[in-house]
Amino acid sequence: MTDILIAGAGISGLVTALCLHRAGFSVRIHERAQKLEEAGFGLNLQPYCVKLLYELGLESEMNEVGIRNNKAVLYSRHGQFIHQDPRGLDAGYKWPMYSMHRGRFQQLLLRHVREEIGAEVVRLGQKLVSFRSQPHYVEVDFVNSITGEFNTERAKVLLGADGINSTVRKILYPDEGPPLWQGITMWRGVTCMDKLYLDGRTMIFVGNPDDRNLIVYPVSEELVNWAFTVRIEEPGIRPAPMTTDWHHLGHIEDVLPLLSDMKLDFLDIPNLISSSIIVNQFHLTDRDPLPRWTYDRVTLIGDAAHPMYPHGGNGCSQAILDARDLVLAFRAHGITPAGLEIYDQLRRPVLKDSILAAREFGPDKILKIIDERAPFGFQNLSEVISSEELDKIFSVYRKQVNWNVEKLNQELPLF
Ligand SMILES: Cc1cc2nc3c(=O)[nH]c(=O)nc-3n(C[C@H](O)[C@H](O)[C@H](O)COP(=O)(O)OP(=O)(O)OC[C@H]3O[C@@H](n4cnc5c(N)ncnc54)[C@H](O)[C@@H]3O)c2cc1C
Repeated sequence: MTDILIAGAGISGLVTALCLHRAGFSVRIHERAQKLEEAGFGLNLQPYCVKLLYELGLESEMNEVGIRNNKAVLYSRHGQFIHQDPRGLDAGYKWPMYSMHRGRFQQLLLRHVREEIGAEVVRLGQKLVSFRSQPHYVEVDFVNSITGEFNTERAKVLLGADGINSTVRKILYPDEGPPLWQGITMWRGVTCMDKLYLDGRTMIFVGNPDDRNLIVYPVSEELVNWAFTVRIEEPGIRPAPMTTDWHHLGHIEDVLPLLSDMKLDFLDIPNLISSSIIVNQFHLTDRDPLPRWTYDRVTLIGDAAHPMYPHGGNGCSQAILDARDLVLAFRAHGITPAGLEIYDQLRRPVLKDSILAAREFGPDKILKIIDERAPFGFQNLSEVISSEELDKIFSVYRKQVNWNVEKLNQELPLF
């Protein structure tokens, strides 16, 4: 019998499989999709998850696939400079921050999982539909949505890594309903550029996350990711009117008029948007923090456990970090319900704070404050916001999401 069965071969499922295998446990992944294609746009990988990825030996491939970010720069929608926040090595971490294309990163991880654990370890066309905890194992049912073929697997524990619309979570919390929405929709695209803007390492935030907000960052030496969010309905948490679907196509003609007043003197914004290779549109959603993730021999990881808004760029990094505490818990308590319980206790409180911080726009809140105080721009930034207030917003956010340079730099390696 396999030690650990993972439902979902997203970033979280694949990294967790690599870590658990490295720690000496047997693992299998069952993925609903028939084929894992290069889906998605840009992802941010913060130093605290990069450390773990380096320990897995992925450094040189990450350098090939992604970009090492050195700073985030905030601008008003009139293109006025507001603040520059160092990132990764420039912020004093021993590990860089990366941005990369989600699909390319997933393929990199998939290749490693197959090479290191075994060609058959990821089973595609396996949609989890139900499970039953037994005294010594968990029994999990999968169906192939195309062929209708049904099979049941056994493992010591089940990890639900099946994303924001998780079936495992729905079984544990049947009354929870769809993801939650606060009235903001998002267009996302990637654009090829012959020459990257500025130093080719900079993330840019323009506008107001509570109104109209443009985020741009390179994900490789030739690809730039952009995301444009617009408030289309009043704030207030309610069920999303449509499910989160990363494949829903968007239209450039819908976006362009909405950012016609946004300017940057080093980047042609309309050209960036209209040269996109692909554009998607979907509503920004998350879910409320849960009172527990672990029930007996079953737990949740990644977006299934803690989906969050992208403000702060923490979602994927936190999903990766779940793997670390799972390894620590299993090393101490074996592949047991007690191990899963410890993982729950280690991770859930941290993630609760991250979800709530992202709902308040994370560090992007600075842009909201400035846009509301000076909607027509400013002569002197210090008349709109003091440097103490700026620093305080960043330092409160860092505390909320556990970004601590000294602590991370001293953390012992997992492997
Ligand atoms: C297609 C896609 C594109 C994305 N693109 C971006 C992006 O561009 N930028 C960004 O920041 N985030 C993106 N995300 C979300 C991002 O991957 C996550 O926020 C983060 O990486 C955590 O990943 P995860 O593995 O927990 O969840 P996900 O990446 O959502 O992976 C969940 C996996 O579980 C599988 N699955 C779902 N239900 C079942 C089931 N019942 N049985 C078995 N398998 C199941 C899914 O097919 C998927 O492969 C995308 C997600 C998806 C699915």
